[in-house]
Amino acid sequence: MSKRDYYEVLGVPKNAEADAIKKAYRKVALKYHPDRNPNNKEAEDKFKEAAEAYEVLSDPDKKARYDRFGHAGVNNQGGFGGGGNMNMEDIFEHFGDIFGEGGSPFESFFGGGRRTSGTRGQRGSNLRIKVALTMQEIANGITKKIKVKKQVACDTCGGTGAKDSNSVSTCSTCNGSGYVRQIKNTFLGQMQTTGTCPTCKGSGKTVTAHCPKCKGDGRMYAEETIEIEIPAGVGEGMQLSMRGKGNAGKSGGPAGDLLIVIEEIENDDFVRDGNNVIYDLFLNFADAALGTSVHVPTLDGQVKIKIPAGTPAGKIFRLKGKGFPEVQGYGKGDQLINVNIWTPKTLNSEEKALLEKMRELPNFQPTPDKSEKGFFERMKDFFE
Ligand SMILES: [Zn+2]
Ligand SMILES: [Zn+2]
Repeated sequence: MSKRDYYEVLGVPKNAEADAIKKAYRKVALKYHPDRNPNNKEAEDKFKEAAEAYEVLSDPDKKARYDRFGHAGVNNQGGFGGGGNMNMEDIFEHFGDIFGEGGSPFESFFGGGRRTSGTRGQRGSNLRIKVALTMQEIANGITKKIKVKKQVACDTCGGTGAKDSNSVSTCSTCNGSGYVRQIKNTFLGQMQTTGTCPTCKGSGKTVTAHCPKCKGDGRMYAEETIEIEIPAGVGEGMQLSMRGKGNAGKSGGPAGDLLIVIEEIENDDFVRDGNNVIYDLFLNFADAALGTSVHVPTLDGQVKIKIPAGTPAGKIFRLKGKGFPEVQGYGKGDQLINVNIWTPKTLNSEEKALLEKMRELPNFQPTPDKSEKGFFERMKDFFE
């Protein structure tokens, strides 16, 4: 099933400000809130759809990628989470906050991943790293093993922050569930919402004696090697996220996400233009006039191409499918070979004599051929 446009889901124009997006989300979320639409699968789907749209459009990075690449830019990126995988529980938990007082209610909106009640704690922060890729790595996709220094669960207490099992007791505020249900007065009337227990911060447990190593925090710093699967066709500035691979949560809470920002390493041979790759070929005048064959590098090795006799400067040869693949899509770009005529900068007397003879020949006088494509037509071909 294809996804609806996020702006359409929230009913806002593409140039809507952050505040308008938030208001629109609030409106849609209220309309389809499960408390108002009990046992209504369609409303539940709409509720989730709106939350997913808001998750993306409320985050400037994600919004920018969505505006540029559509749904492919923010989710369905191989093993990486984007929107789309949220569960009702998480939306519910934070739903109350959208009416509430200040702060950034959605900071931990979808970060939790596999949280289960009774084992909640404060969510860990996201971690952002940069990964530089060569054009060849981008063309083929690659799995990188990267060392990341981050907060992990304390190895003494296993992340609980407690001294031992005797120093943990069930939270009396929430009876161990980690949630409290509350009635809130909103501009649309009373609504029942579920929130994190303020006493135990959602863990369901209270600690009476702290772990001596982490002082009750449940975390320590360590270096971890993370395997990152990067899909083919990614581009400079694109961001991938791996759910739950960021910093560990406090007191056994869920980990944050690992955000991976893609950087392209410049290449001596190629320039990237979208999914196409451009290569500048230099021919000497004799080869261009007589025709020849030359070896040309591509993103996957050398190929031999034939240069027909009479090839003019500015001619563009196209190697179909030798460019970059569409990220998580079909089709590939092309390699465009831009022909340049090499002009020597210095000449010896013999070369000079030869060229002087040549330039008097009638066939060497420039006679622009109007049937040949001019600059603008060639540019049009190039961009089509
Ligand atoms: Zn500890
Ligand atoms: Zn509690």
